[in-house]
Amino acid sequence: MAIERTLSIIKPDAVAKNVIGQIYSRFEGAGLKIVAARMTQLSRAEAEGFYAVHAARPFFKDLVDFMVSGPVMITVLEGENAIAAHRDLMGATDPKKAEKGTIRADFADSIDANAVHGSDAAETAAVEIAYYFPALNVYSR
Ligand code: UDP
Repeated sequence: MAIERTLSIIKPDAVAKNVIGQIYSRFEGAGLKIVAARMTQLSRAEAEGFYAVHAARPFFKDLVDFMVSGPVMITVLEGENAIAAHRDLMGATDPKKAEKGTIRADFADSIDANAVHGSDAAETAAVEIAYYFPALNVYSR
């Protein structure tokens, strides 16, 4: 089992619902440790840059509008197979299709406002972590 890091974002809808702690409890319960954390309200430029891979998609503008609509909690999670473990906890992108007991099934309202983001592969995790966290602000333990 590989120890990995993944980038996790609690999106504006879940922050507004006041369920940050409930979501982090799930991460901790699955053995994932928070090794860096930041609460921030993203600028349009930051949100557009983060989701640049989706720039040509029809939902891009709505996605950026949503991501800048309120504060987000951004963390780096570390643990065994952290990337897949985090995505399993999140559930499918569309909460209607997400398995029962996943974060999106329990807290998300729609495919647009779907509570959480998690890196989908080792390469994207490295890029996404570097995007939000300079190396000196990561505390492995
Ligand atoms: N998204 C959307 N409409 C869609 C597909 C995606 O609003 O039809 C948003 C949604 O917030 C999703 C994000 O774009 O979380 C990134 O999409 P991706 O396919 O990477 O899903 P994820 O990895 O977040 O499950």
